[in-house]
Amino acid sequence: MDSERKFSIDDVVAVWKEIIDFRVGKSLVKKAPGPEEIEKWASGIPWVLIAPPVIQVKPFFQVIDRVAGAVHELYPALTEEVKDGLAALPATQHKKKAFLNRVLTRVIHKNGSKKGPVVASADSAEMIEFLTGAATNLVMRDYAREAAAWFSDEQWLRGICPVCGCHPSFSELTGESRVRNLYCGTCGTRWRFSRIGCPFCEAPIEEQKFFILEGSSKYRAYVCDNCKSYLKTVDTHSAQPEDLLLENIKTLFLDQLLLNEGYGHKAGPNDMVKGLEGGTAPAGL
Ligand SMILES: [Zn+2]
Ligand SMILES: [Zn+2]
Repeated sequence: MDSERKFSIDDVVAVWKEIIDFRVGKSLVKKAPGPEEIEKWASGIPWVLIAPPVIQVKPFFQVIDRVAGAVHELYPALTEEVKDGLAALPATQHKKKAFLNRVLTRVIHKNGSKKGPVVASADSAEMIEFLTGAATNLVMRDYAREAAAWFSDEQWLRGICPVCGCHPSFSELTGESRVRNLYCGTCGTRWRFSRIGCPFCEAPIEEQKFFILEGSSKYRAYVCDNCKSYLKTVDTHSAQPEDLLLENIKTLFLDQLLLNEGYGHKAGPNDMVKGLEGGTAPAGL
C-alpha cells in the first residue's frame, strides 16, 4: 500500500463509524443540576457553563488512544502517521494537562463557532488534530447524553447548542409539520429551532434563501445574507439521514461550495457571550 496515501472523506467516515458509540463509561459531572441551575439554563446559558464536564487527563488520553487504534485497525498503511502523531503528543502530566486545557478551551469558549472536521494528511500535526478533535467530540457526546436528562429542547429555541454553546453544524427538516432541528457537531445534541430565521445571528428573516443541489433533493443549504453564514440541512422526507455527524462529514463538498460563494460559519453578536459571566470555569482543568 502507498504510505503517502491521504486520508479521504470516506476514510474519516469509516473511522467515525468505528468509534461513534464509544462511551467514557462514568459520569462526567459532579452532580446533576438543581432548580437554580435549571433556571439559569432556561435564561439562555448552555449547560457547559453551568454544570461543566469534569474531564481528567488520563481518560482523555485513553480516548485519543482508542481513536488512534481505530485508525490503525482500519488503515494499517497509516500506522506510521498514527505513531508519529501519538509520539508528538505531550508526555509529562503537566504538559498533558496544559494540552487538554487548550483543547477544551477551544470547544467551550469559542463564541459559538467551530472548526470543521479535520481531514488528516501525512503531516502529523493534522493527525494530532484529527485524533484530539475526535476524542473531544466523543467526550462531549457522552457529556451531552448526561445533559439530555436535564431539559426539554423545546424550551431552548436559541441558535446555539443548549449543551455546549456551539453553533449548529447541520440541521434537519422532519415530520409532517416540517419542524427544524438543529444539530451540534461538537456534542451531538439535537434541538428544536424556529422553521425560519438564522441560528447564527438570530435575525428574524422571513424568507430564508436556500440552495438545493442539482440532482439531490436530500440536502439543501440555508444561507443568511445578514451575517453571511450557511447551514447545511437534510430533508428527512427525501431520505432518512445517518447520524448527522456522519452526514456533516459526507457533505464537506457543500461547505467548499458555500465558502466559494462567500458564505462562512460566522459568529453572531449574541453567541454564547451571554452566559460567560454567569458561568463557572470547567472543573478538572
Ligand atoms: Zn453542543
Ligand atoms: Zn444570520
